[in-house]
Amino acid sequence: MTDRVDSSADSPTRLGIVGAGAAGAGAAYALRDADVDVTIVEKSGGVCGRAATRRKNGCRYDHGANYVTEADERTAALLPELGTEGLVEIDEPVWTFDAAGEITAGDRESTKWTWTEGITQLAKRLLAATDATVHRRTRTAEVAREEGKRVDDDAASWTLTDTDGDRYGPFDALLLTPPAPQTADLLRATDWDDDRLDSLVDAVSAVPYRTVRTLVFHYPFRDSYPWYGLVNPDKEHAIGWLSREECKEGHVPDGESLLIVQMGPEWSTTHYDDPLSDVEPGVADRVATLLDDDRYADPDWVDDQGWRYALPDASLDADAVRLTEDAGLYVAGDWVAGEGRVPRALWNGYDVGERIGSDTP
Ligand SMILES: Cc1cc2nc3c(=O)[nH]c(=O)nc-3n(C[C@H](O)[C@H](O)[C@H](O)COP(=O)(O)OP(=O)(O)OC[C@H]3O[C@@H](n4cnc5c(N)ncnc54)[C@H](O)[C@@H]3O)c2cc1C
Repeated sequence: MTDRVDSSADSPTRLGIVGAGAAGAGAAYALRDADVDVTIVEKSGGVCGRAATRRKNGCRYDHGANYVTEADERTAALLPELGTEGLVEIDEPVWTFDAAGEITAGDRESTKWTWTEGITQLAKRLLAATDATVHRRTRTAEVAREEGKRVDDDAASWTLTDTDGDRYGPFDALLLTPPAPQTADLLRATDWDDDRLDSLVDAVSAVPYRTVRTLVFHYPFRDSYPWYGLVNPDKEHAIGWLSREECKEGHVPDGESLLIVQMGPEWSTTHYDDPLSDVEPGVADRVATLLDDDRYADPDWVDDQGWRYALPDASLDADAVRLTEDAGLYVAGDWVAGEGRVPRALWNGYDVGERIGSDTP
């Protein structure tokens, strides 16, 4: 067990963040010029959370969030601010399909962005603009509030303990950004005898999440379609979303195609733990039927990813959002913003970061 607790530190303000997704990276970015020492603890080997990118067989694909929209002015200003090199706009539109698989033209999104290196560039670029220390492959298991750990005053502080027993902190402020069910688990594993903690646990536990299982199908040929993605808005089809990763520059070699197939919540929940080899033929058949082309029933390689907590179906009760902020305990993420969108998570984290910068001494 390593003790990373530095009890001699007194200044600047120390912030601990659990999670290097859009919300955690957004909070760190908001504090990039502030006198705040930011430490991020992230359980994965990479950053950007559910906005994830994988490389395989010469392809690169975003198998969680597909793209970032710039529907709001802040996002429109931020994307070029992070650097235009490698920034990719997806030109083709998103069409819809219904329960019977009938496809209808019409774009669902105004602008859609990713990067040649993948959507994880968002958090990578945000964090590159900061001095934050990021501990990867570090899963927070416990949180504790400790009284009078700062040498310069009696303020309480927060510490984190990971699954190896290593401790991080003390922090003057702590920001939790995992999806609500995982944040609720962390709050239940928090050593702090205060009624506000119980109220926060109740409110966070009440935020429901949808499950999505992503299947990835690769083909040694490429067709031309007028759309990038197809979405099933009525949620009556087993497939919820299907998109062509080759529409993103730098993701799929010429002459090949790679489909991202996100299954609907009901199918995903029922088949979440089924082996890929069991579910792949049936899903590939559905794709072939939807595209009305038998060749799509036979991908030459496949991949998959389950997202147990994919998208929030509600937001955190407004009364709970700032319940523990006076004590230096903050929460952020798409579930606090109330919508499973990368920019919503990012700006929710950013706004909390700004509050932390102005709240702490
Ligand atoms: C299949 C799918 C498709 C989507 N499509 C889109 C889309 O096209 N466009 C769009 O805008 N949004 C989309 N979304 C939603 C978008 O991905 C999320 O809303 C956004 O990424 C949430 O960011 P976040 O920072 O709130 O949470 P996360 O990205 O979940 O970040 C939380 C981080 O906390 C880490 N963590 C969790 N527990 C611990 C722990 N105990 N210790 C340390 N670290 C921990 C996680 O590893 C993760 O990195 C999609 C999501 C999914 C799953």
